[in-house]
Amino acid sequence: MPHARPRPLYGCPTVKGKSMRNIIIAANWKMHKTVPESVEFIKTLHGKVPSTARTVIVAAPFTALYRLSQAMKGTPFSLAGQNLHEEEQGAYTGEIAAGMLVDAGCRHVIVGHSERRHLFNEPDERINKKIVAALRAGLTPIFCIGETLSERDSGNTFHVIDKQINKGLNNVAADDIGRLIIAYEPVWAIGTGKTATRTQAEKVHRYIRETIGEKTAAGSHEDIAIIYGGSVTAGNVTGLLEEPNIDGVLVGGASLDAGTFAEIING
Ligand code: PEP
Repeated sequence: MPHARPRPLYGCPTVKGKSMRNIIIAANWKMHKTVPESVEFIKTLHGKVPSTARTVIVAAPFTALYRLSQAMKGTPFSLAGQNLHEEEQGAYTGEIAAGMLVDAGCRHVIVGHSERRHLFNEPDERINKKIVAALRAGLTPIFCIGETLSERDSGNTFHVIDKQINKGLNNVAADDIGRLIIAYEPVWAIGTGKTATRTQAEKVHRYIRETIGEKTAAGSHEDIAIIYGGSVTAGNVTGLLEEPNIDGVLVGGASLDAGTFAEIING
């Protein structure tokens, strides 16, 4: 079944735009690594990647963030939280506020990861509030979107992407949208070993850029970073990054080993 609101994709891939955008390589450690393991990882990674023209981000567990922000001084890496609460403070046992992430040294935060959406039942409306809270605190949200296998198989990929973007960015100012990193992460490719082919991923990235373009000032969609996540490895990263609208990768499993992650950064 074709998606509900078909629109033409860009006739011409945005090669010129890509040359203006920096490549982003982001790690998502999920619920892995103690504080000493995290610090050891950064020391090893820095040994293998003393400098890089790419933006390298590590999203670590909350417990390791402050110590990691110290360990990252003098390195080319920056720190991210994996989630946040939308309120600035209050009686929300077990939650963490955007300002606390900033306080711990974060510059970025993942919002709307598929594990938050599906395992913790986070709806688009809540994700929208989290994006607003992150932006208000000066954090760059890494806004994750993507379809499930059944949504893809029923021809609804673009419809799902439309809905996640429109609801997730509801009432977010055009200038603020320009500050986001968008992560396209097809749910069927996360932690499964099934990577979207570079052609499949590029098609959705182009669509995302076009959809975002309708919400921002003319031409500014060319500057927005759209990264891919889903079973990225050192073996497939180079091909993905050759695509004109894939500006980087968000890496789960393959980011847990410093040597492998260094290969992906340098790939
Ligand atoms: C992720 O968790 O964001 C992810 C992409 O995981 P993996 O690389 O393991 O598929």
